[in-house]
Amino acid sequence: MLAGAGPDLFSKFDGVIGMRTALLDSGVTDPFNLVMEKVLSPTRAICSGRDTILLGTYNYMGMTFDPDVIAAGTQALAEYGSGTTGSRVLNGTYQGHRECEDALREFYGMDHAMVFSTGYQANLGIISTMAGKGDYIVLDIDSHASIWDGCALGNAEVVPFKHNDIDAMEKRLRRIPEGAGKLVILEGVYSMLGDIAPLREMIAVAKKYGAMVLVDEAHSMGFIGPNGRGVAEDQGVLDQVDFVIGTFSKSVGTVGGFCVSNHPKFEILRLVCRPYVFTASLPPSVVATAATSIRKLMHGADKRARLWRNSRTLHTGLLEQGFRLGTSETQSAIVAVIMPDLERGAMMWEALLREGLYVNLARPPATPANMTLLRCSLCAEHSEDEVETILGMFQRAGKAVGII
Ligand code: PMP
Repeated sequence: MLAGAGPDLFSKFDGVIGMRTALLDSGVTDPFNLVMEKVLSPTRAICSGRDTILLGTYNYMGMTFDPDVIAAGTQALAEYGSGTTGSRVLNGTYQGHRECEDALREFYGMDHAMVFSTGYQANLGIISTMAGKGDYIVLDIDSHASIWDGCALGNAEVVPFKHNDIDAMEKRLRRIPEGAGKLVILEGVYSMLGDIAPLREMIAVAKKYGAMVLVDEAHSMGFIGPNGRGVAEDQGVLDQVDFVIGTFSKSVGTVGGFCVSNHPKFEILRLVCRPYVFTASLPPSVVATAATSIRKLMHGADKRARLWRNSRTLHTGLLEQGFRLGTSETQSAIVAVIMPDLERGAMMWEALLREGLYVNLARPPATPANMTLLRCSLCAEHSEDEVETILGMFQRAGKAVGII
């Protein structure tokens, strides 16, 4: 080693490298390196040469192959080109970005909407811009990585509380110094276990302490609530939420992120929010597909009913087969099957893939309490037959691997 040379900066990853090597040495297919060779529909793809049912996408409403969505994207691609090559505040706001924000305002019945290039950036941008040095962020310990990263970027004091624990949240709020800025961050649906937050009670507590409230509704948009506006709508408290964060990468079926709000000063964020200003805007085809999809989701009651039916059938069936699930009853379109450890989780994941079923294998640090999960997310376009087929696959794989 040269005098003064530092350590290999990769050495901090030795633990993850060891975990990955041990997993692959056990002979299983790499669960984090799957290729969709051809995508046939929202619920089927060819993986490793075989027709596979997709149960691990966030394509909740099956909008990716909607003919109107595809037509809008194709037309925008032809008329406006493949990309904007610029920031929203310079040359990157096209008519389509405005129309997409109009669609969001209408969908949520809110005054303001701001579209970001991803949901990750929406959280990064809004959180870091709203809560800076000297402000306090009170957030659920199981918050998504993009929320944590937004907190870190803004340099606020970060005060986590136990998952979904209203009293713990109140205790943290009570201790914040008088006069400090406060932002409470919650999620409608927590994506690892598929459980929902008691937003009505939590938001009442947050308001009692004068905090502003941000709710990430990534996994509920389009599906939960009478108009698919999310868990806050379902619990009757949407009007008390200061910022709703969402994504186009789930129910909307494309890519992008957004924030909607009724705050009268909201529009200034377009000038001061760095993850909005210092990055290129979404391609015209993407905002066209998003706007079309959002407008169709406003009339998605039938699809919402089908998605609830599919979610309940799978949840009930897996419980009956003896699997341990993340929630005791169906709370969302995510059904998390708890595995005893990573090794058996990977074996079960592979056994399901051999059956012709794709689910997500999730492991720490993404998961709470060091759990290994097989996360299933349903789609409104799964047929009743497909859900029955999926249950059969789980039963065979679970018995073969010794999980049930
Ligand atoms: N918030 C939550 C709760 C999420 O689960 C995700 C993505 N999994 C995001 C934000 C980020 O969304 P995007 O994929 O648009 O970056």
